[in-house]
Amino acid sequence: MQKKIPALTLAAMLALSGVAHAVTPAATPAANEAATARHFAALVSGTQPKTAELNLFFSMMPKGGDLHHHYSGAIYAEQFLDWVDKENYCVNKTTYRIESQKDVIAAERAKPAGQRNCLSSSEVFADPGLYAELLQRWSTKDFYNHGGIQTPPDRTFFDTFGYFGPVASTNTADGLKTLKQRAIAENLSYIETIFELSPFISNPQFDQQALAPGLTPAALHTLLAGWTHNLEQDAAFQKSITAYNDNVNTSSAGIDDANFTMRYQAYVLRFLSPSQVFSSMVAAFKAASLNPLVVGVNIVGQESVNVSMRDYSLHMEMFKFLKAKYPHVKIALHAGELALGMVPPEGLAFHIAEAVDVAGADRIGHGMDIAYEHNALATMQKMRERGIPVEVNLTSNDYILGIKGQAHPVTLYRKYGVPFVISTDDAGVSRNTLSNEYVLFASQYKTDYAEIKKLSYNSLRYSFLADADKQRLLKALDVRFAKFEAQVAASDQPVKGSKP
Ligand SMILES: [Zn+2]
Repeated sequence: MQKKIPALTLAAMLALSGVAHAVTPAATPAANEAATARHFAALVSGTQPKTAELNLFFSMMPKGGDLHHHYSGAIYAEQFLDWVDKENYCVNKTTYRIESQKDVIAAERAKPAGQRNCLSSSEVFADPGLYAELLQRWSTKDFYNHGGIQTPPDRTFFDTFGYFGPVASTNTADGLKTLKQRAIAENLSYIETIFELSPFISNPQFDQQALAPGLTPAALHTLLAGWTHNLEQDAAFQKSITAYNDNVNTSSAGIDDANFTMRYQAYVLRFLSPSQVFSSMVAAFKAASLNPLVVGVNIVGQESVNVSMRDYSLHMEMFKFLKAKYPHVKIALHAGELALGMVPPEGLAFHIAEAVDVAGADRIGHGMDIAYEHNALATMQKMRERGIPVEVNLTSNDYILGIKGQAHPVTLYRKYGVPFVISTDDAGVSRNTLSNEYVLFASQYKTDYAEIKKLSYNSLRYSFLADADKQRLLKALDVRFAKFEAQVAASDQPVKGSKP
């Protein structure tokens, strides 16, 4: 029979069991930092990094910002499934695609439950096999885990966006709230999310002219100036820019507070036609110039596909043109997200250089092909001197490009003093966290606490935040680090009876 014991506080229980640490005199911040550095060194020394301990360390560590973050790629499939019901859509159980056509959905609903081909999310959840396979299509889950859908990884990755696409831009306020809560839970104070596709229109005549062989940059700029002028007179197009900003404002209401800040980048899709890409860029720059929440413009989409490769230099000239028109609008460009063999070798030779030299990129996303670029050393020198950082996405690069460890160019950027930040890319598709990106960095590359801490600060320093906001967040990061280091220093005492 169990004897009743009076309730004890946790501290009293620890004291009784002899686990409590000896009370030490209040440590100075410098001593705490030194203790944290020693603690971290012990986690990465030896033949194998202590991965579980690194998971704990980085879950707790303040991580500043996440600067390469795709909103729709950050939402988990589970939440998209909830939105399927909210929108009154259903999921085709054969193709795993979302059905959004009202007449098809109505016809499906009229069938008896067992005979429907299009399911609600609760019906998907109720069928474990179907649900498991859906997760493998709507994310990269299980790819390396014998049950995975074995299309090539880059296709699996980019295809996910087509699966959840019909609900990706619905319920954005809910989505941003989830991302905020998740960020706070892992001690992340800022996200700069690549939010929604900037509006665009098609112009076949412009497409023909922009792709005309032998078009000089000067002639191209005349063409761009002419159409920009027309777009400014186009009331419907201007209205779509206002609608873009209205959506940012509505979706983000209530997100910013004392603990967390979110900013937004408008993006263009690099595999659309030249007129679509350019009008989208015009809208994105205009939106950013009008809305303080929209702090930058990005260009996204698979870089290795035909149109993205064909129009790469054209896009960089378009950015140059708009950067001159809107010098205060920042641009972060996905550039060089390519691996050897994905495209012919000459395609690997210039993307980062042109993003820096022609487009005037403020940050480079991925920067993976640098080792194959003709002017790699000169480009890296410029990036170092001008303070143009690379957004490093280790999980994504490993998955999409098959590049990791010593083959990853972060080794070159470190060697040549190019600043960089650690970011997630698409944490929902990869089912990953920013903390884990730090774990990967710390386990794959010989590093120390000073570099890790700098990376966290870099992710605010190189953000596109307005200066006052940046200073406020940096100050708050000081406080967060002081608290974290005090915690680590206090916990870094031998626990009686523990196994090292
Ligand atoms: Zn990306």
